[in-house]
Amino acid sequence: MDYKNNIGYRKETLKKLLYNIQKSEDLIVKALYDDFKKPEFEAVLTETNYVISELKDVIKNINKWAKPKRVLPSILNFPSSDYIYKEPYGDVLIIAPWNYPFQLALCPLVAAVAAGNRVVLKPSELTPHTSAVIAKIIEKTFHVNHVEVFEGGIEVSNKLLAQRWDYIFFTGSVAVGKIVAKAAAENLTPVTLELGGKNPCVIDETANLKLAAKRIVWGKFINAGQTCIAPDYILIQKNMKVNFISYLIEEIIKAYGKKIDKSPDFARIINTKNWYRLTNMIQNEHILFGGESDANKLYIAPTLLEEPDLDSPVMAEEIFGPILPILVYENENDIEKVISRYEKPLSFYIFSENNSFTQKLISKYSFGGGCINDSVIHFSNNRLPFGGVGHSGIGAYHGKRSFDTFSHHKAIVKKGNWLDLPMRYAPYKNKLVSIKRILDWL
Ligand code: NAD
Repeated sequence: MDYKNNIGYRKETLKKLLYNIQKSEDLIVKALYDDFKKPEFEAVLTETNYVISELKDVIKNINKWAKPKRVLPSILNFPSSDYIYKEPYGDVLIIAPWNYPFQLALCPLVAAVAAGNRVVLKPSELTPHTSAVIAKIIEKTFHVNHVEVFEGGIEVSNKLLAQRWDYIFFTGSVAVGKIVAKAAAENLTPVTLELGGKNPCVIDETANLKLAAKRIVWGKFINAGQTCIAPDYILIQKNMKVNFISYLIEEIIKAYGKKIDKSPDFARIINTKNWYRLTNMIQNEHILFGGESDANKLYIAPTLLEEPDLDSPVMAEEIFGPILPILVYENENDIEKVISRYEKPLSFYIFSENNSFTQKLISKYSFGGGCINDSVIHFSNNRLPFGGVGHSGIGAYHGKRSFDTFSHHKAIVKKGNWLDLPMRYAPYKNKLVSIKRILDWL
């Protein structure tokens, strides 16, 4: 079980994991449904299939990614050949959230294993069915000293955080991210923090409104709005608002029908605590559409709010549910007044055909990543880094970047012995002028 040095062993265990996930796909989909009625289509698209593609990519590329990478040497070291070695960090702790409980636990785990680490995973206690299936799959695939799952809540998390790790990968809220960062600081443990924020969605007068409405409805209401990169609020040019709202309503009905609570394609709120948090947000607001809710079924309809006050509860924190506030702007100062109230978001969306406007917003505001004329889909390209900035996170992953995240990059210069230029050695007398000339020339 030499997972640290034997890349063949890592690859074999990842192949076994792929096999076990594919074999258990129905169980995973069922568990996700049992946890919060995640629709089968969403479960396959955003959870099982996502992990399967990531696994296939890793299995295909692991030899290439793990190999020492030769880089151009510095002329000052002539003659030498220079390399970057990928070294596993060692013991890695992964703490996962509940909203995409399979994907957000397994994707970092796959990368950490590929990079040669020992892994402890703590999935979310709020999705017990999915966590149990994950634990079974891991137990079946890995030796317990290689990868282990600890199910449970805050207590288990805190016990794990009190131990010394070589790397911690955390996905969850900003508040808990700070707890993780503090615990990691105790041992100077490096971290990736994948957090959240209030993601703006700006729509200007040149946007294709109908298509924007369709793409926003999908990105906002997938997983019942419980997506870290879902548009949090709309900022639309004032004179476009009325048309846009009618398109949004049209698209919601097209997607989920008139009896949304009966739709098999709309998930439920994760628990009662969050159901109350969300229903409180809409209580004193002007509801343009939706607003229906049922505590027993943990249901909240896709809900559109008209221009809530910026100091209202719905605009005070990340919504993380099927509620979409629609704010308006008349000029770029109005946009800035809203966006600058919040910490740097995880995502930013701009719907516009005006290239200079989109470029201006992209350079003006700092955020993790985003889309022009769409929402959420930047997540799906594993050649793009996924991660936040500032309060929305530290570090990024996906694709090869995930492998690199879980590897220490060790710099090695291999010096040739056939020549030994005397310039750098003491005594330095009369050498400074010549070395300055060389440095200037370089
Ligand atoms: P959370 O922070 O409450 O929980 C995440 C994990 O931390 C869980 O495993 C939980 O058991 C553990 N935890 C909770 N409280 C803790 C404490 N006090 N001490 C130690 N551990 C604790 O987050 P959540 O509710 O599961 O997920 C929702 C949040 O996660 C949202 O803010 C969302 O934006 C964010 N999120 C971010 C990403 C991303 O990729 N950036 C993805 C999904 C969710």
